[in-house]
Amino acid sequence: MSDIINILPDSVANQIAAGEVVDRPASAVKELLENAMDAGATKIQLIVKDAGRSLIQVIDNGCGMSDSDARLCFERHATSKIHKADDLYAIHTMGFRGEALASIAAIAQVELKSRMHDSELGTQVIIEGSDVKEQTPCACPFGTSIAVKNLFYNVPARRNFLKKDSIELSHIEEIFKRIALINCDIDFSFHSNGRILYDLHGGNFAERISQVFGESYRERFYPVNESTDIVKISGYVSKPEFSRKSRGEQYLFVNHRFIKHPALSAAIEKAYTDIIPEHYYPTYFMRLEVDPSRIDVNIHPTKTEVKFIDESALFAILRAATKKALGQFSLGNELLFNPIQEVDIPPAPKGYVPPQPQVHYNPDYNPFEMNGKAKTGNTVSSKGVTSSFFQPTEHREPVSSKWTSFFDIEKEKTPPPDPVLKMDSGDENGIDDKREQVVHNPCIQIKNSFIVCSMPSGLLIVDQQAAHERILFERFNSASEQVAAQHLLFPVNCQFSPADADIFNELCSDLKGYGFEIGSIGQTTFVVTATPPDVKESELQQLFDKMISDYKGSMLQKFSDRKQCLCRSLARQMAVKSNTVLQQTEMQQIMADLFCCQVPQISPSGKKTMAIVPPEKILNIQ
Ligand code: ADP
Ligand code: MG
Repeated sequence: MSDIINILPDSVANQIAAGEVVDRPASAVKELLENAMDAGATKIQLIVKDAGRSLIQVIDNGCGMSDSDARLCFERHATSKIHKADDLYAIHTMGFRGEALASIAAIAQVELKSRMHDSELGTQVIIEGSDVKEQTPCACPFGTSIAVKNLFYNVPARRNFLKKDSIELSHIEEIFKRIALINCDIDFSFHSNGRILYDLHGGNFAERISQVFGESYRERFYPVNESTDIVKISGYVSKPEFSRKSRGEQYLFVNHRFIKHPALSAAIEKAYTDIIPEHYYPTYFMRLEVDPSRIDVNIHPTKTEVKFIDESALFAILRAATKKALGQFSLGNELLFNPIQEVDIPPAPKGYVPPQPQVHYNPDYNPFEMNGKAKTGNTVSSKGVTSSFFQPTEHREPVSSKWTSFFDIEKEKTPPPDPVLKMDSGDENGIDDKREQVVHNPCIQIKNSFIVCSMPSGLLIVDQQAAHERILFERFNSASEQVAAQHLLFPVNCQFSPADADIFNELCSDLKGYGFEIGSIGQTTFVVTATPPDVKESELQQLFDKMISDYKGSMLQKFSDRKQCLCRSLARQMAVKSNTVLQQTEMQQIMADLFCCQVPQISPSGKKTMAIVPPEKILNIQ
């Protein structure tokens, strides 16, 4: 039998290699930008046409190449970055495999112009499908320009695999952002079809983040800084209230390289446990610096996956550093970031002596007494708190469930037993201390939206809506036994579209656990005969509609998720809103209930519920 093995020509081998390195225009962009970085450029331009299909050009002012290097760089395994195998463990450059340009040149028409700083003339190389067509001297600025035209012109299968221009362009944009973010001292610009998308000027990391993502990002993050023998960490993690429903903007860099590392990402996310709602994710821009000999970046051709020798230590350090940042800037300090926007306390006029706050409430008031006294108590104010706040509706039966505790005046007379708190007991500003401090203190309301109360540790400011949302959420979520239902005198009909009616049908069994009693009349009409105490009958349809849309939005299938989604939705809708006048007893009850929560600082929608201004800072608020 004759021999059947043959050695593939370089052009074919390069095309095969290209499949790994360049699978879409964005990968070519990555390689070219990284080469410009490695060349020491301080100014880099990226120009694309038709999302990189017709043209990808990167122009840099880096070191440039000699005539022969400009030819040689397109050979496979041609690299100036490593010389021997040992160098693999001391990598300080983005590239080192010497295959990017060879791969790109195998599947495109490439025009390179390059000039070294000390040369009068540059050199131009034209290469198509690994074939050098021309090399000539040329006049050009120093640095290198590589134009990649008609990517995949000779690999139609690959070309046909490309997605719509908008998708390919968004991949390119993502690559551009990753590289621009971590190389914040370099000027970058990005043009697409003649339009300038980014024009970034060198600055620090925070400046670059806000140049790329917008000025609003300046307010959204806490800094993280930690230095140990194993790793130096610096970056920014989002404040809990800016967490998101998807893992969009999570940037992890190691030694100036963007990486994907599920375990290290999990370390950062773990620091947010109990601070942000389930299925919400933080945004972060985290830079790690480790000894290059302790990582292996050569486990994948695109080098976005790396292996760490000290992975478990890194995990612990990263999580602790994130936690520290969140803790340092959370309860107690956070308001100092932006005191004026959060609470608008006008300066007192000169010589003004503030009167001592007065607490007005009716100690004899019992919400469940069916007499006129209850109604004439100073409970419902001009703007009217939600009807159920203190209102003993004639047709409701007395209830004694957890539902009533928020507005249950009985508590005023006999303070509730100490709650079992699950907060960290080591917290010096312990939640239970705070609770003790606030339960009996008089409160005032600002802008009908914030409750303010004095404590020995400072001025406590609570966002009434966010706080009540948290209280209700935990109450629903922990309702292990059935919540008592209040029967309606007149049943209320609710109507849905056929599709929504199907969903509502599914949710009905859960709703029963929260005090609703619901039957159906036909396919799309439901009759509600009982509700939990704090629900207005007139708003039932709206409440269910919103709940269904929240449910659809969350697209949750698992039972536990469904419950969370329901609890969140109900809490959001039933919570007392901003711009609602609250009475003293109501405010004190919110304070007391809030500090009984497991996670009092954040609402289930991720909003901050409270802030404390320490006494020494009060006068610093201009
Ligand atoms: P690698 O980056 O892994 O070394 P590449 O194929 O990307 O491999 O590039 C091959 C070589 O070409 C590089 O090692 C470098 O010496 C040279 N080179 C590529 N791009 C540039 C550039 N923009 N400026 C200067 N030299 C470059
Ligand atoms: Mg390279």
